[in-house]
Amino acid sequence: MPKLRKEKILKGLPASPGISIGTPFHYVHETLNVSREVIEDHEIEFEIEKYHRSLEKSRKLILEDKKKTIRNSGKDAAKIFEAHLLILDDKVIIDEAITIISNQNVQASYAVSKVMKDYQTAFENLQNEYFSQRAFDVEDVCRRVISNIIAEEKNEEHDTTVLSGKKIIVTKKLFPSDTLNFDKDHILGFITETGGSTSHAAIMARALAVPAIVGVQGAVKWIDDTSLLILDGYTGKVIINPTPSTFELYKKKQHEEEKQYKEDLSIAKLPSETLDHEKINISCNIQTGEEIESVLKWSGEGIGLFRTEFLFESSLSILSEKEQFDIYDQVSKDIFPNNVIIRLLDIGGDKLQDKLRIKEDNPFLGVRGIRLLFDHPDILRAHLRAILRASHRKNIWIIIPFVTDIYEVKRIKGIIGRVKNELIAEGHNIDRKIKIGIMLEIPSVVMIVDHIAPLVDFFSIGTNDLTQYTLAADRGNERVSHIFDSLHPAMIQLIKKSIDSANKHNKYISICGQMAAYPIAIPLLLGLGLRNFSVTPFLVPVVKKIIRRELIPDCEKIAEQCLKSGNGRKINKILSDFFTNTIGERMIH
Ligand code: PEP
Ligand code: MG
Repeated sequence: MPKLRKEKILKGLPASPGISIGTPFHYVHETLNVSREVIEDHEIEFEIEKYHRSLEKSRKLILEDKKKTIRNSGKDAAKIFEAHLLILDDKVIIDEAITIISNQNVQASYAVSKVMKDYQTAFENLQNEYFSQRAFDVEDVCRRVISNIIAEEKNEEHDTTVLSGKKIIVTKKLFPSDTLNFDKDHILGFITETGGSTSHAAIMARALAVPAIVGVQGAVKWIDDTSLLILDGYTGKVIINPTPSTFELYKKKQHEEEKQYKEDLSIAKLPSETLDHEKINISCNIQTGEEIESVLKWSGEGIGLFRTEFLFESSLSILSEKEQFDIYDQVSKDIFPNNVIIRLLDIGGDKLQDKLRIKEDNPFLGVRGIRLLFDHPDILRAHLRAILRASHRKNIWIIIPFVTDIYEVKRIKGIIGRVKNELIAEGHNIDRKIKIGIMLEIPSVVMIVDHIAPLVDFFSIGTNDLTQYTLAADRGNERVSHIFDSLHPAMIQLIKKSIDSANKHNKYISICGQMAAYPIAIPLLLGLGLRNFSVTPFLVPVVKKIIRRELIPDCEKIAEQCLKSGNGRKINKILSDFFTNTIGERMIH
């Protein structure tokens, strides 16, 4: 039981889900003491050599960390270290450091720290999330180089941090290399003062599957070594010295979490069908190849949506054809014999603005998705070549994002056809009949879906964007979140129209937006005729559990009722009542 000290709650951004209860380990970065020392002219050569030796040593250590990460967390998490190798080999940085050593007659460690500080100042002045992440990476690499120079001078090796018992790591900032400094079995979670939910620390925490909260201001000051901590990775709450009742509450939550986890694992293995034996496909949405492990763990039947833009986001530059091919080929291999629907880069809107330097007043209505790919034929060509080359197992389908018009479909099909011919002429073994589908996420295209159906092989409804564009409510804006309702009657009509049309033309159709995993919406979607769902991997058991309690005729009745209503609130009420009165009850028994 906790000591009776005053409970204090700090708030941060939830970065990796889960609940941890434990004591802290304050992780303080070793202060790299690099004062400026003037050296003699004849020592310059020696310092430059020392710098080169440290670069070599750092390269070896980064490669070791990369291997360790691949082993523990998969290839995608290890990409961070590929980025670090690029920084380490950056000619501009190396030349700058050498110029400082020789022009200012200073020792190597000082020169590297000077370069690091200059970069930080330059990036910080840009006040941009992407660039501050880059400054962070430069700092991580430079710290490594400096500590290797110092270690050579002192003739000593670096130690890794030894944790006694299981601890919650508390620190101002966490570098990707730091996360490897700890033995995973001793980490209960991470609390950092800096970083966003997309920061590398957050990515690493998720990859290690430990709860984490980032951006917790004052964490280091308020948490002392004797504090008892509760880390709630779902809400972003850090509770310091919880009262006995809070402690009990979270102990219970933790216990339920463990129970739920075990139950979910057993549900995941059950067949995905309704009570009246209608087979329903539940596939998964992924952003990185690394998530395949999760898909397999939760028994997802293939990948219903591979959001490729995230691969580009976690890399320093636009990925080459070869880099992309390796990823798509691996995903296709890992998920075989199931299918993977690869979405062409959906850049724009709020995604990857920085990398292509697009500045628009209204990016969600601007050059996004397929529009942007048409504007960047080189990126599109390399992207298509990589996907098509990986299609040799015939389990890859291509889906086009942000389609508004039939001409876009014709144009992209023409381009895909030309790239296919080019690859065939080069002797590549590709899927000549690769399936091409479109996202239904803009109302205009749903209204003409009957005209487009003969041109495509399948559809996937992106309810996140379809809701945003139908209701003119920004999906990321808290102030209009009460308007953003995927159960709005207009949405239900659009979904019905899409499913009916796909069925009429005998085309596969799925929903890959969040709505597919929204419990009260599942009976409605089944009643509207949906048979393919694509959801986040760990939600497969939740969706399956509901589906396994449904009877199609009941769902059809409830869908009919909803279709007759013009009132979103009423629809929400009809579906909640249906869920509690029927499914809820069936779920208890
Ligand atoms: C959607 O819009 O519903 C969708 C699945 O795509 P994204 O969330 O990536 O825009
Ligand atoms: Mg979308």
